[in-house]
Amino acid sequence: MSAAPAAAATSNIPRYFRNDADLGRRDAHKQLLASLDRLISEYPPHRVPPGGGLYYGPLSVAYLFYALHKIYPDMTLDEFPMSTWSAAYVEQAQTNIKNYAGPSPEKCGVSDDIMSLLALYAVTAKDADTVKELCDFAAVTMDEEASNEWLYGRAGYLYLLRLVRGAFMDDKKVTELIEDTTDEVIDNIMSSSRPWKWHGKAYVGAVHGAIGIITQIVLTDAMWAPKLEAELGALLSYQYESGNFPTSLPPGRDRLVQFCHGAPGVVSSLISIRKYFPSLKDRIDRVVAKSRECIWERGLLTKEPCLCHGISGNALALEGKQFDHFMTYTTGHEIKCMGKDGMLEKSDDPSALWCGEAGRAWAWAVADKGLEKRFLGYNDI
Ligand SMILES: [Zn+2]
Repeated sequence: MSAAPAAAATSNIPRYFRNDADLGRRDAHKQLLASLDRLISEYPPHRVPPGGGLYYGPLSVAYLFYALHKIYPDMTLDEFPMSTWSAAYVEQAQTNIKNYAGPSPEKCGVSDDIMSLLALYAVTAKDADTVKELCDFAAVTMDEEASNEWLYGRAGYLYLLRLVRGAFMDDKKVTELIEDTTDEVIDNIMSSSRPWKWHGKAYVGAVHGAIGIITQIVLTDAMWAPKLEAELGALLSYQYESGNFPTSLPPGRDRLVQFCHGAPGVVSSLISIRKYFPSLKDRIDRVVAKSRECIWERGLLTKEPCLCHGISGNALALEGKQFDHFMTYTTGHEIKCMGKDGMLEKSDDPSALWCGEAGRAWAWAVADKGLEKRFLGYNDI
């Protein structure tokens, strides 16, 4: 693949390359297997450094295998089912449990290891006592200074609570406990002063910002949608003429087109909450269409393909042939070519669900099974 530089970035690698090749498509099942094979051979459980919750590290890889086991109950890798692989990566996280500080007001989202471990254990072992332990952490998130966003804050805690709620639908007592907890967390987010801020800045995007918070609230309890309609409407109005979204407010330079900052995260979020905002439907559709033009033009990033800030995530914000075409840039072969061309900024967490191979595998599974284009750990449930 020849990669023509298209825009200057701070490093000497351009931020993205021109999307001017003929449309392509790869065999998604074959690519999924190749990706999983690289994952377990290059990053076997004992070699994945601890930390990172569902975002990066061993638990993030375990969560991928947990999800794949549901989609491919009969699939094996080196003769072991996906559930066995999941358990092996969980074990690597547990071995290092003493190093985890546990949730704090500044770190109580999907990246917290203790909370993620409890959630994953609760659903796999179907253990009600563990659900209680997870719900007890609500106390930490009640702190006035607690973060609200998804990665380090209350919105991420809502995702974990939703995960366990799904496994205890038949248990009224446990469901009530979870719902009391989500009510409390949502009340706290809603009564926080606006704009919601993270590290002093009013972020817009899915990972640290307002669209991520709104999405987690509505997917947890759709009753809140009418109360969030005006805020979502205001957020839509910040779309740049280019179709992209600003990283934070007031809007600065139009630079990043990736899930964590910019249009891709906004598109994916809007698609999963659209049905709860009937009076914004037409506006949302226009915003999504315009965003996709921008992602199509500027979305072939030189960062190593991943969900959070790379081509796999940008692909999931597209549909049809555009999705298939972006996915062709996330194969082992293409990534090698990007490296040879000097067009690859390597990941710091190459195994991770959100920053590396595990996330690439997730996107291939979505392609293979024709699943709704969702992000595992964000809006898949
Ligand atoms: Zn990112």
